[in-house]
Amino acid sequence: MPRHIASHKIPIDRISRSAIRVVESLRKAHYETYLVGGCVRDLLLGLDPKDFDVATSATPEEVKKVFPRARIIGRRFRIVHVRMGREIIEVSTFRKQVDHGKVSNNGEHESRHGVLVRDNVYGNIDQDAFRRDFTVNALYYDPAKNTVLDFVNSMQDLDSRTLRLIGNPKVRYQEDPVRILRAIRFAAKLDFSLEKKTEKAISPGGKSLNAISPARLFDELNKVFMSGTAQQAFALLQKFNLVEVLFPVSSDSPDLVTAALQSTDRRIAEGKPVTPAFIIAALLWNQYQSQSIALKNAANPEEKPIDIAQTVIKDQQSTIAIPKRHAFFVRDVWHLQARLENRNRRSIYPLLEHRRFRAAYDFLLLRVRTAEVGPALGQWWTEIQALDPDEQQDRIRALTPHRKRRRRRPKSENP
Ligand code: ATP
Ligand code: MG
Repeated sequence: MPRHIASHKIPIDRISRSAIRVVESLRKAHYETYLVGGCVRDLLLGLDPKDFDVATSATPEEVKKVFPRARIIGRRFRIVHVRMGREIIEVSTFRKQVDHGKVSNNGEHESRHGVLVRDNVYGNIDQDAFRRDFTVNALYYDPAKNTVLDFVNSMQDLDSRTLRLIGNPKVRYQEDPVRILRAIRFAAKLDFSLEKKTEKAISPGGKSLNAISPARLFDELNKVFMSGTAQQAFALLQKFNLVEVLFPVSSDSPDLVTAALQSTDRRIAEGKPVTPAFIIAALLWNQYQSQSIALKNAANPEEKPIDIAQTVIKDQQSTIAIPKRHAFFVRDVWHLQARLENRNRRSIYPLLEHRRFRAAYDFLLLRVRTAEVGPALGQWWTEIQALDPDEQQDRIRALTPHRKRRRRRPKSENP
């Protein structure tokens, strides 16, 4: 039986009107329905929820009858997206925990390694609370009565700022290794401590992240990098030796990565646009550089030019699916570094107008910060952007012209 808590500090005016409308409509159709998960957790912590999730006794098909324009999505985990104006409310049906080991033989719910491949066995609200990941993510809010329902001592953990997996951590990570990344993301974002057993099972479970599809891993890492606390989260990834599992092609470039994470967190705090591709570019930069140098040294003029950027990104994609637009971003930012360094007179204007100039310039500044290139270069590019056209021309003229290098033929080949 849950504890019903009436004396809580949820500011009602911060709850999305659309989410409440979804709850009310489902209740009118006689389905038991609540707000659940991260939104209840964040409201209780005085934070603004990122999105609103609804849990209900209605099956996805029944939800669709109440909201005919809603869409059923997902296979492993079927949920319904109900669109209300610009907001999308995620509605999931109460589910129960699939008993670990009992159904593995028919292969319907678990893969060979105990990873849940389907989680669509419906249940009641009690069962639904226990199959959720962390205690602080298992609170239900009843907007009609203005009460919170607590099944697993969530309030206590919320008060002591503790992130605790529900059930046996080893088994819960094995069922769904993405919970490892969620643990890290929430610990960093909420500044919570990991409960001892929840923490202890992370490193041994780390390898199983390879069992997760590259697309799902990207989605989850994207949330980690875009959380506003990427630095703290990355420190935890390092602590639990997960960087090498996730980024096997990343060679050590801790300073550049730290600088990229720092800059991303700062930009989020300032409300500026950010992209995970910038962090990916930093993570794989050393690999790109060492492969470029290796290619130059082994240069065989007969050979077709190889796009090292593409090779490095492709290697990474076997673990994490980097969407095309991000892959292009990374490639452009890398390619532009050499051009920014060369400062060829004739390419200054085209560079300033390049659609990725700003990103490449920001990346160059990271490299200045880590002393990979001298400060004068960064300063030159900073200043040139601020000058008026005449002054710009003067600056560009002052650059040493690049002499065209002719390849000298070896003497023996001369006629
Ligand atoms: P946020 O939306 O702020 O990132 P959240 O806790 O709402 O955090 P969602 O991914 O929106 O996270 O998931 C909603 C809820 O669904 C969670 O609070 C949790 O109760 C449950 N949940 C999500 N993913 C899992 C999972 N992999 N295993 C178990 N429960 C999960
Ligand atoms: Mg959510």
